[in-house]
Amino acid sequence: MRSMKPLATSPLTATQVAALTALLGSAHIRTPQDLAALDPGIDPHNFGACLLVRPGSTEEVAAVLAYCHEQRIPVVPQGGRTGLSGGAISQRGQVVLSVERLDRIEVLDADQRSAVVGAGVKLCVLAAQAATVGLSPGIDLGARDSATLGGLVSTNAGGNEAFRYGTMRERVLGLECVLADGTVITELGQVRKRNEGLAVERLLIGAEGTLGVVTRVALELVPSRSPVATAMVALESLMQAVALARHLRTPALVALEVMSGNHAMAVVRSLGLPELASLAAHPWLVLVEMEATSSEQAESMLVELLGTASEQELLTDALLAQNEAQRHAMWRLREDWAVDRERPGGLWYDISVPLSAMADYVARVTARVAALEAGLEVFVIGHLADGNLHITVNAPHPVSECYEAIAPLVTDELTALGGSFSAEHGIGVEKQATLLRLVSPAKLALMQAVKRAYDPHGIMNPGKVLPTAPVAPSAE
Ligand SMILES: Cc1cc2nc3c(=O)[nH]c(=O)nc-3n(C[C@H](O)[C@H](O)[C@H](O)COP(=O)(O)OP(=O)(O)OC[C@H]3O[C@@H](n4cnc5c(N)ncnc54)[C@H](O)[C@@H]3O)c2cc1C
Repeated sequence: MRSMKPLATSPLTATQVAALTALLGSAHIRTPQDLAALDPGIDPHNFGACLLVRPGSTEEVAAVLAYCHEQRIPVVPQGGRTGLSGGAISQRGQVVLSVERLDRIEVLDADQRSAVVGAGVKLCVLAAQAATVGLSPGIDLGARDSATLGGLVSTNAGGNEAFRYGTMRERVLGLECVLADGTVITELGQVRKRNEGLAVERLLIGAEGTLGVVTRVALELVPSRSPVATAMVALESLMQAVALARHLRTPALVALEVMSGNHAMAVVRSLGLPELASLAAHPWLVLVEMEATSSEQAESMLVELLGTASEQELLTDALLAQNEAQRHAMWRLREDWAVDRERPGGLWYDISVPLSAMADYVARVTARVAALEAGLEVFVIGHLADGNLHITVNAPHPVSECYEAIAPLVTDELTALGGSFSAEHGIGVEKQATLLRLVSPAKLALMQAVKRAYDPHGIMNPGKVLPTAPVAPSAE
């Protein structure tokens, strides 16, 4: 991940701060002193704005935006601050609008398999509540304990289950949002079939706060998982991993994650995980999970499939989790970011590529990066089943200044391969230069026109996704 350098902008006036305080009450305003004591989340620049407001209802969000629109004050929406592309970073002179108080689960309908929730509801909270009626949000990711539904919608998040249930674009049934001038659009239908003209609210899915604030989400739920069996598999090549993926792709498959051996070794060095150390010594690892009506049935199905995979030389070694602790250790091997702790200042690329092209693509990227500078190393983790890889480029020294130099080596062949330079983390500030380089002028022009229509003064999260001119001062 890479952050934008903070730009100097003029601070809010005392009158503006007083007006925002009058709208929400002083209990819901966070000053620079308050923010200094709070966790800014994944990016240290998230609290650069020095003022955070916490509206408690859609009406209060609308009142804040109407005032900021009139005053031309830039607004940065924030949820759980786990976003990985710098979309939530803020600067002096801006206002952070946190949706943390929009945290009610309003509807949980087991018959319709749907929920209506405030944008500030955390994924883990919805997952726990849905589980009580045998349902699940159909999305899961490492930041589940902090990421909010509003943030997941705004980044069109994917995660571990996207290969089964799609990204947020497929999960969302309806939305309520507030546009830059305070206009509220409420389209919270809980049905899949709804053809009522243009779905204008759906443009906020993946808009990263640049078109308005998501305040409520209607979500399709899926049945809770049945009991699962989990295994960690060692392989000699990514080609073998792709062949294994083909072999394992049955309706019972619920997780298929991949990691390079150097990532796994870094995690083992950092966390121990002795039972996984010998597997981590192999060039590639795959975590596989299958479900069935009982854990015994899931286990025997997985053992049988891995057995036939072994006969066909699709794997080198495998370990079946014998209990929840071993399963947890396997997921830690996949989800821990030891590489970033060992070597801070690395670069993350979030791409997707068709499975048939994946192995050759990764080999080419690795060779191109190695040829660029001695000491650069490529680490890979990802959601194998849907071809989504997180490629970290790292070195013993920080390389964060090299993002744009290395990006073309990783991203520029992806469109031709049928993949994407931006899979699931959004554009934010990190991938903006790549977006401008790789997206067609026609699409960029249309994106700019939509931005102007939803946010004529450019107050919503300026500088994210698209570069924008500084917000014009109000006429007053
Ligand atoms: C450990 C870890 C693992 C992760 N794994 C995955 C993964 O597997 N798949 C994946 O897709 N992502 C993953 N992420 C990224 C991140 O969790 C997602 O992008 C998530 O959707 C962000 O939600 P948030 O509430 O934290 O949003 P924030 O980080 O607060 O905001 C992200 C963006 O959305 C905007 N935004 C937030 N709330 C609103 C709102 N209510 N209205 C309008 N705009 C809003 C912000 O302005 C910003 O542009 C991971 C992150 C971490 C830290």
